[in-house]
Amino acid sequence: MESGTAETRAGSSGTNGDGAAAGSFEVHNPATGELIATVAIDSPQAVAETVARVRANQAEWEALGIEGRHHWLAQLRDWLLDNQERVLDTMQRETGKVRADASNEPAYLVDLINFYGAKAAKFIGEESVRPHSPLLASKKLRVQYRPHPVVGIISPWNFPLILALGDAIPALQAGAAVVIKPSEFTPLGLAEVVAAWKREIGGPDVLDCVQGVGETGGALVDAVDFIQFTGSDRTGRKVMARAAETLTPVSLELGGKDPMIVLADADLDRAANAAAWGGMMNSGQICISVERIYVEEPAYDEFVAKLAGEVGKLSQGADDARAPKDVGAMTSPNQIGIVEDHVDDALAAGARALTGGKRVPGPGDYFEPTVLVDVDHSMKVMRDETFGPVVGVMKVRDAEEALRLANDSRYGLSGSVFGEKERAEGIARRVECGAVNVNDVLVNYLASDVPMGGWKESGIGYRHGEPGIKKYCRTESVVITRFGAKREPSWYPYTRGRRGLVGRVARAFNARDLRRRLGMRG
Ligand code: NAD
Repeated sequence: MESGTAETRAGSSGTNGDGAAAGSFEVHNPATGELIATVAIDSPQAVAETVARVRANQAEWEALGIEGRHHWLAQLRDWLLDNQERVLDTMQRETGKVRADASNEPAYLVDLINFYGAKAAKFIGEESVRPHSPLLASKKLRVQYRPHPVVGIISPWNFPLILALGDAIPALQAGAAVVIKPSEFTPLGLAEVVAAWKREIGGPDVLDCVQGVGETGGALVDAVDFIQFTGSDRTGRKVMARAAETLTPVSLELGGKDPMIVLADADLDRAANAAAWGGMMNSGQICISVERIYVEEPAYDEFVAKLAGEVGKLSQGADDARAPKDVGAMTSPNQIGIVEDHVDDALAAGARALTGGKRVPGPGDYFEPTVLVDVDHSMKVMRDETFGPVVGVMKVRDAEEALRLANDSRYGLSGSVFGEKERAEGIARRVECGAVNVNDVLVNYLASDVPMGGWKESGIGYRHGEPGIKKYCRTESVVITRFGAKREPSWYPYTRGRRGLVGRVARAFNARDLRRRLGMRG
């Protein structure tokens, strides 16, 4: 792939023909501001052609079966392991992440390939079902899970590989072909992996990406059979509305405003260290970042001092493998503006920054790791998704007040509770969100065994676990008659005698008392 100012078709295979490009966009390194690539936008026609091409190969891919498809995905796993440094270099260049944060991307993907490789047969293998009624005793009941032929994935910029390939892996394992539209801020790493699938791995032509902006995403929605969208709830609504035009099913992984509750009996060192990492990791640009913290009164002063101390020590800036730093850049130039607005709004309304509180002068888009206190729910920083290295901490009377505030949100993605194990678990079970961690943060994302998805305005549908692969499938029930007469009693002709027989048999099997079984009233 070319970089610098040269225009490049970053993703698709180039089979889209002349006139396929519809303008271009620039990609910058957020750590330096440097222009690193200019990418050609795929036109709606080019998107449709890419989808048609992989669609033509999907039946053969599906016919490979679970093992056959895993064979190819395992090769992708090995490629990711063998080319990790190259992948991390691109990740860092287009996102401005520190090396440690970038390294989560391939690590997660190789684990996920192994997970779905091992579990797919259990999750989407053919099911044999015993008929519930003796009237169906002659039938063999089977359920098979057949993929939506082409799955479209629209992904955001905060984890360019995890949130694109992390959904492509179960879709491919299920037998679907996949076309991904990555974020226009971070298109390069994904394009590199897709190119490797085609040219270095030699994988079947059932995985591709198209490059572009919102319009390109819309064209993908029009062309595919299922849409997996990860991004803001604002765009999620548009995607769902567009998908409604073609009755295309969607799964939406949207924003969050994750609460953390710290009970008075928590290990405050662990809670403060977890809050620092859970709030600042990936510069807070994680849908499941710790964004707001509620601390029971007796623990408040000590917790806040420990948290501010830990966050105040974090190193920030561009790094490499030899000299690691803790906190990287903000990937999207729009997002740093939102973070600044939330912090300024809080400070103007009486909040205090115990550490951080402002944008770092350039080059690069950096915001200081920030701990805010004296905040309340009238402030944007406690209400809207900040998606930056900022946490707001509130003192609460007791666990009930913490719960009330934690649940006072239009979002419900995930959350965490720190405290004595049983008490914390009891509180955790009442947090209104799709996943909750007890005495840990973010870790539910690595537990791919269990579903992860949003309640309320945080989304529709789940990734991970059984639902994370089943959602890419359509259910086909197969009802097989093992033996039967020339004519069933319920078929034509409708004579009095045959109708009576059917009624008496149905009654005999469905009534639960003798009188009704025998045709009498109860
Ligand atoms: P975004 O909604 O701005 O963009 C996401 C993707 O949608 C991009 O690829 C974009 O080009 C595309 N898009 C934009 N307009 C479109 C349209 N009209 N039709 C189709 N596609 C369109 O989100 P973002 O700023 O890239 O990402 C940040 C957001 O993602 C945050 O809200 C964050 O919480 C959320 N997120 C959620 C999860 C999750 O699993 N729930 C994970 C990561 C990020």
